Amino acid sequence: MLTLTFLGVGNAFAKRNFQSNALLEAWSAGPEQQRQPDTTLLIDFGTTGPQALHQLKDVSGFAYLNRQGTVDYPKIGHIFITHQHGDHISGLEELALMNTFTYTNAGRGFRPQLISSPEILENLWEWSLKGGLGVLNGREANLEDYFVLHPVRLEDAGADRFVWEGRYELMPFKTDHIRLGRKYDWPSLGLFIRDSASGAAVFFSGDTGFDAEAYGDMMTQAKLCFHEVHLGEEDLPVHASLRQMRTLPAEIKKKTFLYHFGDDWDSGAFEVVEREFAGFARPFERYVLFD
Ligand SMILES: [Zn+2]
Repeated sequence: MLTLTFLGVGNAFAKRNFQSNALLEAWSAGPEQQRQPDTTLLIDFGTTGPQALHQLKDVSGFAYLNRQGTVDYPKIGHIFITHQHGDHISGLEELALMNTFTYTNAGRGFRPQLISSPEILENLWEWSLKGGLGVLNGREANLEDYFVLHPVRLEDAGADRFVWEGRYELMPFKTDHIRLGRKYDWPSLGLFIRDSASGAAVFFSGDTGFDAEAYGDMMTQAKLCFHEVHLGEEDLPVHASLRQMRTLPAEIKKKTFLYHFGDDWDSGAFEVVEREFAGFARPFERYVLFD
């Protein structure tokens, strides 16, 4: 079984929800039968990620994340990074430092598996993490001191996926989030997850402008979709507005949860989301992706 729990469903500036990071849990039996999953994978870990995990560990069913009142970071086995904005990566420094120092002192030093495109993994270190993690015990450090790297080469058939637990195929795809000059020239990813046991699939958009042409086939194929949304009046080049999302076919909307929204989601102005879509994604709730 594979489950997904949002640590938060808010956008980068949200204050009433944590930012849109998610915890995948793989189970041989299921959360009813097991105290903890066989293995875990975070989709992104932003600025509010550590605080969100700190709260989640006290929620019924997530006690395995609690070690004497602190987040048990070695329980996070894998991390997939969609792109380099702070709401998606800025929790990584804390996670890396606690694994490397706090948990090493406790005899449980740990390097999680870090999965993304080669370009994002390189930029993640050079542009972001190196500032805080670049020196370790009196020497220059690199990303591999903290993580085991799994670059996924999107353009190479066969190397374009990360097979997790021998069963779940994590297939990143390019998203149209930020442009320097043309589409896809600033790397950002979404995730298509296929269960090789059942053939079923789930679509997770990552941050993106509206692009039904690029994602239509995947969303049609998927049994369940999670798509980002921007609730403002105006259409933006970098996020998908609710107006644009409403133009999707009814059968796609019905199986699509919206996430990455602003603090005004419950103002009363967005009842259409519950009516036309699967609804707004809810934080700290386990969604079953595959049985
Ligand atoms: Zn974001």
